[in-house]
Amino acid sequence: MLSVPALGLERAHTHTHTHTHTHCGRAVRLKASTCFPPETVCRYIMTFLIFSNVLLVIQRDTTRFLALFAILRPTASYTDSSDDETSPRDKQQKNSKGNGDFCIKNIKQADFGRREIEIAEQEMPALMALRKRAQGEKPLAGAKVVGCTHITAQTAVLMETLSALGAQCRWAACNIYSTQNEVAAALAEGGFSVFAWKGESEDDFWWCIDRCVNLEGWQPNMILDDGGDLTHWIYKKYPNMFKKIKGIVEESVTGVHRLYQLSKAGKLCVPAMNVNDSVTKQKFDNLYCCRESILDGLKRTTDVMFGGKQVVVCGYGEVGKGCCAALKAMGSIVYVTEIDPICALQACMDGFRLVKLSEVIRQVDIVITCTGNKNVVVREYLDRMKNGCIVCNMGHSNTEIDVASLRTPELTWERVRSQVDHVIWPDGKRIVLLAEGRLLNLSCSTVPTFVLSITATTQALALIELYNAPEGRYKQDVYLLPKKMDEYVASLHLPTFDAHLTELSDEQAKYLGLNKNGPFKPNYYR
Ligand code: NAD
Repeated sequence: MLSVPALGLERAHTHTHTHTHTHCGRAVRLKASTCFPPETVCRYIMTFLIFSNVLLVIQRDTTRFLALFAILRPTASYTDSSDDETSPRDKQQKNSKGNGDFCIKNIKQADFGRREIEIAEQEMPALMALRKRAQGEKPLAGAKVVGCTHITAQTAVLMETLSALGAQCRWAACNIYSTQNEVAAALAEGGFSVFAWKGESEDDFWWCIDRCVNLEGWQPNMILDDGGDLTHWIYKKYPNMFKKIKGIVEESVTGVHRLYQLSKAGKLCVPAMNVNDSVTKQKFDNLYCCRESILDGLKRTTDVMFGGKQVVVCGYGEVGKGCCAALKAMGSIVYVTEIDPICALQACMDGFRLVKLSEVIRQVDIVITCTGNKNVVVREYLDRMKNGCIVCNMGHSNTEIDVASLRTPELTWERVRSQVDHVIWPDGKRIVLLAEGRLLNLSCSTVPTFVLSITATTQALALIELYNAPEGRYKQDVYLLPKKMDEYVASLHLPTFDAHLTELSDEQAKYLGLNKNGPFKPNYYR
């Protein structure tokens, strides 16, 4: 896209330039016939040439800038160009209805945010279907949901769905960098109490969470958390709130881990739903999301061509499978490393060469870790990589690549682009390290909305289930969403593909020992 308008402009420029010269030539002849002294004519020509060239440069660069801006606009949410340095905490803002119960960067960005939300709605069919159903019933009537997740267009679709289902929502960000300011503005304009902006300080982060929770005359009765910080804050500051809280829905590995620890210690005071381990999250978020976003992350950061490149993927779980499939489809030569013979065998059956990292480290062009483990790529391997090798991580934690081992005096770090570093050895060899070893796709690209729709629908159903569960169905423990709900989430996404599901006949259902309406698989099936 960039090259087309740029090329057009170059041509226009060349054309105008030639024309101007011709025009100038005629001007010289005309002026010469009026017998001005030759030096005045020369000065006139020079001034005219300089002036017309300056105009051309301004015109060309302005148009280029505007063309570039038009290209960047769809992702402007990730590169907020606002130079307003005032902390949102020091601003008094109100929406058009006079409501000021929010704290965001700039309420004036609401229209732009609304358009981003509308784009996301297109790819979140299940939430939109839940909204339609909510016209008749309000399963979250009376629910007061306090949420702490990434504040993005996709979360906005979730929040507006929860509201359509009858819930009141107050929201903070679970990450100091991931808030789309314009989306937060659209939510605030729509009457949601949002406390978040991109680039919060640590202190702001906790302040925002506190503003969500601590409001006179309002107490949450449901928690929707991503990472466990909100749950932790309520435990620490307002433990009495748990008397009214009916349940916690947690999305992340880390948050779920904390919940299991609380449960083990006998300190979990309400039921909690582990969305992270739902089949619909693992099978789709981990596999398909990574299959789509690995190439995006690599391309945006390095412009690398994949065809014929030698890539090693460490770990052949769901994430590894997604990465390998995408790279193979692009014509890369893919090697896999594994510790588990079952996943290793799967890699072999899928046509990948199973190797030890030490065997291929000298020859590969790209190294990708996705094991969930630590110290998979250590300094010894980094030393042996060839010049220009790209190194990145798709796993949750930034310890898969031993980045700390690269902070030694003999190595030079050179920031090339945002999230791209060259680490240079004394002999001039350099490796290209992406996102300092943090999750590549979440740091350097976006993730597909459709996948987030599946996770967000699971979250919404988990809230509905916990909120409406009769006394005693769930104890103070961590639960997985019932298989039937997982199946329901999947079924809500099928119409997008005009997919036609086969129904069991009575005879078949009896033969398999199943209810015709599901669940179709046992709870342990993954
Ligand atoms: P998984 O458990 O299915 O797969 C990890 C695999 O790595 C396993 O098969 C394991 O045997 C293997 N492994 C462990 N140590 C190894 C080592 N030293 N060398 C080679 N292989 C090793 O997990 P998953 O669902 O594939 O997730 C992997 C990581 O990615 C986790 O940290 C998860 O939180 C994260 N994740 C990332 C995204 C994303 O968008 N980037 C999405 C979901 C999950």
